[in-house]
Amino acid sequence: MAALRLYNTLSRQKEELRPLRAGVIRIYSCGPTVYRYVHIGNLRTFMLPDLLRRSLEYLGYRTEQVMNITDVGHLTDDTFDRGEDKMLVAARLESKSPEEIAEYYTQAFMEDAALVNIRPADHNPRATQYIAQMIELIEKLIAGGHAYEVGGTVYYDIGSFATYGRLSRNTTDKLLAGSRGEVDPRKRHPGDFTLWKAAGEHRVQVWPSPWGPGFPGWHIECSAMSMSLLGTTFDIHTGGADNVFPHHEAELAQSEGVTGHRVVNLWLHGGLLMLAGARMAKSAGNFFRITELVDQGFDPLAFRYLALQAKYRTKLNFSTEGLAGADRALALLRERVAQWSAGADAISHQEELDAFEARFRAALEDDLDLPAAMALVSEVTHSSLPAGGKAELLRRWDRVLGLDLDRVAPNVALPGGAQALLEARERARAAKDFETSDRLRDELAAIGVAVTDTAEGQRWKAAPHK
Ligand code: AMP
Ligand code: ZN
Repeated sequence: MAALRLYNTLSRQKEELRPLRAGVIRIYSCGPTVYRYVHIGNLRTFMLPDLLRRSLEYLGYRTEQVMNITDVGHLTDDTFDRGEDKMLVAARLESKSPEEIAEYYTQAFMEDAALVNIRPADHNPRATQYIAQMIELIEKLIAGGHAYEVGGTVYYDIGSFATYGRLSRNTTDKLLAGSRGEVDPRKRHPGDFTLWKAAGEHRVQVWPSPWGPGFPGWHIECSAMSMSLLGTTFDIHTGGADNVFPHHEAELAQSEGVTGHRVVNLWLHGGLLMLAGARMAKSAGNFFRITELVDQGFDPLAFRYLALQAKYRTKLNFSTEGLAGADRALALLRERVAQWSAGADAISHQEELDAFEARFRAALEDDLDLPAAMALVSEVTHSSLPAGGKAELLRRWDRVLGLDLDRVAPNVALPGGAQALLEARERARAAKDFETSDRLRDELAAIGVAVTDTAEGQRWKAAPHK
């Protein structure tokens, strides 16, 4: 099996992926907070593990993926400490229960993800179903000297974890210097984060615990769900670049604090999606939902096409013009694949096909270099390969790209029987039987398919169906 190299945020370098269990790569991905719709920035982050899984499977691995659903609405330590609860705010505004809100937006997330061909994870655990496991972890952290309780709230003691800050390259001193505003006087260190929060005024989304009624912090969720479902060591953890600190730094300290050993082999982070120079964010209100783009007439997979053209780790500036370009390019590519599919077979060019295939695999193996893979798509398009060979390669690669290259826009779809006639004509032309090829052209014209002969082979145009 080929060696895949991935950039590990922890080591700041590309590392060869060595499966912890033979043949299967276990992946944990931070999922959405379901108090409102996901935006296309979130979708870019969720597309990373999808591309990772598709690439791994293409290269011969099996994968198992967990993506959590955060249905307890404490977004960040900041809002958390101010007692602001997004789930509850949403519930109040829409006069629904937090459970109804969570269920509604979970479904919306699944539908939006499906629109951009993000395959569902194998498991989608809900945070509210893992409260017992979170409490158990917190108890272990207290017993191990990594956490302390004050007035029903439990904090992680970052001073107790010698390598705290390693993932995000923050030292505890820098954290101290960087802390602004009022510091919770109950904390031993201003950088200590909350594992369990006393309920206070809250009446809903509150659970009993050894420290009294309350609710869990955001970070402990992912320690509990990842280790419950994937075990205390697994291969890859994914998230957006904004998750590195504090979320993943905290998760690492929690999980390793409990187990005493490395839990995540490789940390993979996707670059942020930007809009007019600012990070696309729910809170700032500068975001698009994928369905808005569909309403504007774009194919949702044009967004996927756009995302594939940037390295997953880099920031990507979103613009409607950029999307329009991707939309046109995708439509043209599909049309070509449809045309080439009517071409002759490619056995005579096996070596050239194999060379392209090897380069495609090498691109995936080099830290998921999808822009390089897309450049190969373009190279194949303009190559001298026979039409059938081009179609075969692109359709095969689409298992990774997920662009539905086989889908033909309705206005260029072939009428029934036309495909067989086109193939017969391609064969006739290859055999220089021009009498037959002319007759077939007339037959095709009669059913509304206009055929022209070009240097790249025959091209057709179908009249729109009634
Ligand atoms: P949230 O629902 O806010 O917890 O976000 C879900 C995921 O989307 C997180 O893993 C974030 O890292 C990611 N995310 C948030 N904003 C962006 C953005 N502008 N670009 C890419 N990913 C983002
Ligand atoms: Zn997480």
